[in-house]
Amino acid sequence: MNEFIKKVQTALAARGYQPGPLDGREGPKTQKAIKAFQQDSGLDPDGVVGALTANRLFTEQLSVISFDSDGSTPHFARAEFACDCGGYCDGFPAEMNLELLLKLEALRNAVNVPVIITSGVRCRQRNAEVGGVDNSQHLFGQAADLYVPGIPIATVAAIGESLGLTAILYEAEGFVHLAI
Ligand SMILES: [Zn+2]
Repeated sequence: MNEFIKKVQTALAARGYQPGPLDGREGPKTQKAIKAFQQDSGLDPDGVVGALTANRLFTEQLSVISFDSDGSTPHFARAEFACDCGGYCDGFPAEMNLELLLKLEALRNAVNVPVIITSGVRCRQRNAEVGGVDNSQHLFGQAADLYVPGIPIATVAAIGESLGLTAILYEAEGFVHLAI
């Protein structure tokens, strides 16, 4: 059972392909559905869910994701990304990058369980306190640190990368840094 394959199967089924049972096993039916999807998408039908295929499978969901008036998405409240300095700033020294938010929403849909944001935007004081690099993308709302209970951070990173995000694994700390 592979979580990522299960998400691939789920996305394929949602698009009308027939990957067989959504069991996280890449059997012949799943292979056939992947190749059919690749063929229909103008991709090389090699049956391998590489970055391009995964990107196509998951990113097309972005267009149906909407923002609330305050910038919240269906699964993330704006406040979850606020700077946690507790007083140096008003919480949003920069706004979160909208494309990043859309991709995090797509990731949330892919894993289908809650995603915990441990750090969103940071003011310079907070960034220095937590040892962030000088030009950290957190300063500009272009990165989020997160984890997904029950799913290895390497898998979360792979899904993030399939959506076109840059991922840095923090194995010991148990989170992944995803940036636009
Ligand atoms: Zn702050």
